[in-house]
Amino acid sequence: MLFADGHLHTNPVKGLGARTVAKKFKEVNGWFMVLVGLSPKHLGFDMNFDGYVKSIDVLLKECEAAREEGLKVICLSGIHPADIDDLIVRNPRGGEKILDMAQNILNHIGKLVKNGLIDGIGEIGRPHYKTIPESFIANSIILRYALALARDLNCFVHLHLEQGGYLTVLDIESIVKDYNINRYKIVLHHSDIPTSEEALKRGFIFTIPGKYQVLKEAFRRLSPDYIVESDFIDDPKRPGVSSYPWQIVENQLKLLHENVVDESYLWRLNVDNIARFYNVSPP
Ligand SMILES: [Zn+2]
Ligand SMILES: [Zn+2]
Repeated sequence: MLFADGHLHTNPVKGLGARTVAKKFKEVNGWFMVLVGLSPKHLGFDMNFDGYVKSIDVLLKECEAAREEGLKVICLSGIHPADIDDLIVRNPRGGEKILDMAQNILNHIGKLVKNGLIDGIGEIGRPHYKTIPESFIANSIILRYALALARDLNCFVHLHLEQGGYLTVLDIESIVKDYNINRYKIVLHHSDIPTSEEALKRGFIFTIPGKYQVLKEAFRRLSPDYIVESDFIDDPKRPGVSSYPWQIVENQLKLLHENVVDESYLWRLNVDNIARFYNVSPP
């Protein structure tokens, strides 16, 4: 068996960093990961344009380190909806400036995509928790701006959404149609089961958190047309918020031994879907 992690973050300042994570992931037959940038606040930088540029520089080095360890890596950078939420909540009338900053950051990311240094935009989207309405509007504007940019660059996008099942997927589908975007470049990240079922109906790819109980339900209810993620945040102060990449492997193997899933299903998730979606070849 080979294993992939469809969405994770590494923190070389406060956590293990990509080199160590990649080494440990390889030890459990990991071959591929999508490395997504962290917010400047997690790396000790300011929450402004310069802070984002610095954190993107860190991401580029992290992706390189993971590649040096022999993994296939897709490298994504974006503006987490929780970051926009933080900024808007602190300054609900500051929307214009915050949007301006977000667009500058996305344009910077766009240049890096054009130069082949980054593979796409992620994560962007909408908060999954209750917050002030201005935050949803700001994130929704940024989401559409980023999707239009991704369409022009023909790059990958990871969307972090509210997990509203039918409503969430219907809305993303209507944006995708209006903007004439290739839906096969978009991942609905951290999907719950109802949202996943809607995504399957409408032909969107999505990632499922690799926790034991979630996987057990997913394996029973969903066709193998998705990807598993750890959403590891590499923050020793917040253990248990997400899984370690090697834990998602452990959980899949456990469910294999318990006959909840078979090898061909796991191969689809960890190899076939990755190869097809990200256009990479397995080792
Ligand atoms: Zn997320
Ligand atoms: Zn994430």
